[in-house]
Amino acid sequence: MKIICVGRNYAAHAKELGNDIPDEPVIFMKPKSALLQSHTPFYYPEFTNELHYECELVLRICKNGKYIQERHASNYYNGITAGIDFTARDIQDELKKKGLPWEKAKAFDNSAVIGKFIDTTPDLNRKNINFSLYKNKELVQQGNSGQMLFSFDAIIHHISNYFSLNIGDLVFTGTPAGVGECVVGDELEGFIEDQKLFSLEIK
Ligand code: ZN
Repeated sequence: MKIICVGRNYAAHAKELGNDIPDEPVIFMKPKSALLQSHTPFYYPEFTNELHYECELVLRICKNGKYIQERHASNYYNGITAGIDFTARDIQDELKKKGLPWEKAKAFDNSAVIGKFIDTTPDLNRKNINFSLYKNKELVQQGNSGQMLFSFDAIIHHISNYFSLNIGDLVFTGTPAGVGECVVGDELEGFIEDQKLFSLEIK
């Protein structure tokens, strides 16, 4: 199982970090060990002083495939949830400055949080899914799948040209504007529409 993530998929977020809007999806990966297992506490990593939340829509792959055409892409995922792509922003800034890979900032243990999955039924409007993140009961991030630069199906198509997709893989589809810091004791809650899908305390 692997975790594939899309960076800079919302114009407003690319801008808030001072990045250009990409002309093709920006892709990075997290290993299996990055997935926070359910009922496991999340501890603030010791190597960072600037841990950021990035709330994202996450797709669950249900079919093996390679070179998937965009018009068939929706057959390859059957679940969606909200999740967090935890990022050690101070480390990432250092690595970016040096032109080095991001893994230490993005792919560390427990950096991928997922909520409870909702089935992606054919009547789910994939272009109009609202999601949000609350920190200590206050709304901090809000997005809609219609704001994505690359749609779910465009992402699946693009990824599958490079990496085989396998049942159980997860795809983090990018974060909207509003990323920010979190500290020990913060409570993070992720929603799709008004359904709470995860709740997490930083220990
Ligand atoms: Zn992200």
